[in-house]
Amino acid sequence: MISTDYLVVGSGASGLAFADTLVTEEPNVELTLVDRRPGPGGHWLDAYPFVRLHTPSAYYGVNSLPLGEDRIDQSGENAGFYERATGAEVRDYYAEVASRLTQTGRVRLLTGHEHLGPREEGAQVRDLSTGALHDVEVRRKLVDARYLEASIPATHEPSFDIAPGARVVPVNDLPAAARSGTRFTVLGSGKTAVDACTWLLDNDVAPDRILWVRPRDHWFHHRRHFQPLDLVGENMEGISLDAKAGAEAADVEDLFDRLEASGRLVRIDPSAQATMYRITMLSPGEIDALQQIEDVVRLGRVRWIEGDRIVLQQGETDTGPDILHVDCTAYGLRNAQATPVFQRSQIVLQQVRQNSPAFNAALIAFVEAHRNEDADKNRLCPPNPYPRSIDDWPGLSRRTWQIEQRWLREPDVAGWVAESRLNLLRCLPDHAADPPVKAAIERFLTYVGPAIERLRELDGRRSPESG
Ligand SMILES: Cc1cc2nc3c(=O)[nH]c(=O)nc-3n(C[C@H](O)[C@H](O)[C@H](O)COP(=O)(O)OP(=O)(O)OC[C@H]3O[C@@H](n4cnc5c(N)ncnc54)[C@H](O)[C@@H]3O)c2cc1C
Repeated sequence: MISTDYLVVGSGASGLAFADTLVTEEPNVELTLVDRRPGPGGHWLDAYPFVRLHTPSAYYGVNSLPLGEDRIDQSGENAGFYERATGAEVRDYYAEVASRLTQTGRVRLLTGHEHLGPREEGAQVRDLSTGALHDVEVRRKLVDARYLEASIPATHEPSFDIAPGARVVPVNDLPAAARSGTRFTVLGSGKTAVDACTWLLDNDVAPDRILWVRPRDHWFHHRRHFQPLDLVGENMEGISLDAKAGAEAADVEDLFDRLEASGRLVRIDPSAQATMYRITMLSPGEIDALQQIEDVVRLGRVRWIEGDRIVLQQGETDTGPDILHVDCTAYGLRNAQATPVFQRSQIVLQQVRQNSPAFNAALIAFVEAHRNEDADKNRLCPPNPYPRSIDDWPGLSRRTWQIEQRWLREPDVAGWVAESRLNLLRCLPDHAADPPVKAAIERFLTYVGPAIERLRELDGRRSPESG
């Protein structure tokens, strides 16, 4: 029998960020992390070979350990922006995090173990190598650190059928399979598809040898607006543009027109209607490269792939012989419904502040350590579901601004947020007197109140299917 204060299910970015902060804030607490995967790091263990963080390393990971060297890249598509770790660097980082946590003597890590769900008292886990079952006595709470578990190319089941003879590979296999392809079809509209197209272009595949099947077009953030540390003013500029657009928007379409006109959001093809919004970001260099791919199929989702033809929801397209299809259709972030973070016997890790998964998990641990009543904890950590379409933007931003205001009224929470390396605005006070930063702060303060009111009106006005 294993006995522990907290049983954390999932040792990905969320579970580790939670554990790291809880052991720091509660000196005597004991945690057990359990994960099916063979090591710590969650989906990063199975990520495609050319994956990178899309946000800077400087505010990713766990609170107690820096990731990377806070370097500004001098060349490449990320030139002028803070470095972004490769998948391998993220995996090494989480191995180091896990090693440090277990060395405290208060954290046990059971990788290669599966949580089998709650029992009358405690929980049960199965050792996947032996099949052995272990009862777990949970003295305080179970922590669900896989509620938002990512659906990734290596582990998802394609939702389309593949005829014998058609060549389809998951994006993880692209580097190995590319040598055998002369023409490529990239399936999917999100960040993974963007990465696959960029990888092909970087590897000297001519744009006219790439066919891009994009069921729906996406909005992307300009990477400039997600910069921390010495470039934090750019970040503030982006947030202030959100507030201004939010306050002045007539409707959701007008909101996105304003965000695009201000440079806050970009789309690969400005002539195509974009309805998807998943808080991912691109640099101008990436956009320029991707715009070279002109052969784009917009006929809905793929249903059936043959050797020389693709059947889609709204039609079909000939692809010709000897084409390699690259499956980038895994969903990424899970669209789980909001549920209270703090419940009687469990803590369900979810997004609170937008686009800050590591920060949110750590914040939830801080609140768990410093508040007694679940109602009080939930007041400080209301769930803020991941967005899927443009219709989700009003609620997402409004909830973020409202909760940030609430944190500021609680000195211990405000103090932790201000110091946390996971807080992308941490260095704002150091730059607040710089004229452009000062102007951005003033713009934000002018518009945030009206924006919250306006976005409340826009939020939920349209049906979920309207995007
Ligand atoms: C390709 C990609 C790139 C990303 N880049 C960024 C970025 O640059 N910046 C950013 O802020 N966010 C990024 N994200 C968002 C992402 O949500 C986080 O970065 C983060 O890694 C997600 O971690 P997680 O712990 O929530 O989920 P996961 O990594 O999915 O971990 C959940 C874990 O739970 C385990 N598990 C599930 N069920 C059980 C069970 N019953 N028993 C045992 N174990 C179980 C799984 O094995 C898994 O390892 C990215 C996401 C993807 C997919």
